[in-house]
Amino acid sequence: MKEIHSDINIVGGGLIGSITALCLSKLGFKVTILEKKPNFNCKNYKDQRTIAISEGTKIFFDKIGLWNEMKSLCQFIEKIKVIDRDLSNQLEFDNARRKSNLGYIIKNIDLLNLIYLKIKKNRNIKVINNIHIKDIQFDSEKIIICSESIKIISDLNIAADGKFSKVRKIFKTPYYSKNYNKNALVLTFTHSKDHKSTAFEFFYKNGPLAILPMKKTTKNFSSSIVWTHNSEYLEFLLELENKKLKTILNEKTQDCVGSINKIISKQIFPLNAHLNTRFFEKRTVYIGDSAHSFHPIAGQGWNLGINDLNNLYEIIKKYKSLGIELGNKSFCKEYQNKNFYNSYTLYQVTDKLDSIFKLQYPFIEKLRFFGISNINNFKKLKNKISDFAMRVN
Ligand SMILES: Cc1cc2nc3c(=O)[nH]c(=O)nc-3n(C[C@H](O)[C@H](O)[C@H](O)COP(=O)(O)OP(=O)(O)OC[C@H]3O[C@@H](n4cnc5c(N)ncnc54)[C@H](O)[C@@H]3O)c2cc1C
Repeated sequence: MKEIHSDINIVGGGLIGSITALCLSKLGFKVTILEKKPNFNCKNYKDQRTIAISEGTKIFFDKIGLWNEMKSLCQFIEKIKVIDRDLSNQLEFDNARRKSNLGYIIKNIDLLNLIYLKIKKNRNIKVINNIHIKDIQFDSEKIIICSESIKIISDLNIAADGKFSKVRKIFKTPYYSKNYNKNALVLTFTHSKDHKSTAFEFFYKNGPLAILPMKKTTKNFSSSIVWTHNSEYLEFLLELENKKLKTILNEKTQDCVGSINKIISKQIFPLNAHLNTRFFEKRTVYIGDSAHSFHPIAGQGWNLGINDLNNLYEIIKKYKSLGIELGNKSFCKEYQNKNFYNSYTLYQVTDKLDSIFKLQYPFIEKLRFFGISNINNFKKLKNKISDFAMRVN
């Protein structure tokens, strides 16, 4: 059997695993990425989603020297409008206080393309595609990932293999999970009015509908919609001819970006959330969706994965400077202590937010209306909410 030796092994080369590899290679480590997909490029990448990058995440990319290239691919968010049912009850956040943006929208595919190109040129990173992990073993100081034909031997293993993590299955790490029995319809489209760098989040009875401004690449304005609703209804919308779909979307978007001209793409994603009860196993840490996934109501899942990475990066830097081996028990525990609580909080907040805005009882509706009007008047509370969304302290 072929043997490959590296300092750090990463299972999963998605949006978190690939960035983790690039980041840790910058600290001088030899990194191997194990990816089950046959090709490490974006040619067959079908995901048309966008990511709302928070200010906290931007600061991290600045630190590792990637932000300058990323920002040319992003649309800045200068304003966020949160709307409860209709435009008469809305909350507005802007960037005046911090003199920074409220977030940045990037297409998943543009981000991956940028990272994959850098990985291809990086001599410290080895990518093994089309791999099917069968087992995980140990000797005294190493972890060994085994497929049918290859063994990868390293000090530290990072599981970045998404919400249905195979690594988690092999270790039998317990986790909580919740199925929302809903889907998210993700659409990209062009529209008649300038979005003016504003993101809109409508809270409807059946779930939120977000309009995220996208970078203008042609002469048209474009945005992306993430609409949570019952699975059957969204399947019905997906099959509907675009002319009829546009009529429904025009009504739901309430003229915020004018009328919808052309639907460029539409896809459906199932909604479920989970949280591992611990974020480590022997010589292994879980990062990104392999550790946690959330309702996309606040657009924070990937951002929290980057927060995991920021903490991991700092711990690894410290261990390296002290000359201590990576992956031992105290290393893994320190990682858990830095990350678990943040994820637990976000799991609770996104879940409760979804429930609050779904409630239809007259008393609750009045309370919500009262809440939204008052938050507008309480600057301190409003600032706290905007800091949470931006993930800055
Ligand atoms: C509708 C929707 C909208 C969202 N919008 C936002 C947003 O605006 N902002 C935000 O922060 N987050 C958002 N998220 C969450 C975000 O998409 C995820 O948190 C993010 O994609 C997780 O990245 P990941 O790399 O951890 O997992 P994944 O993207 O799932 O990548 C996992 C990788 O591991 C590979 N893999 C899987 N199994 C194996 C195996 N056995 N062996 C080897 N490789 C394997 C996969 O092929 C894949 O490449 C959204 C989610 C949804 C559903």
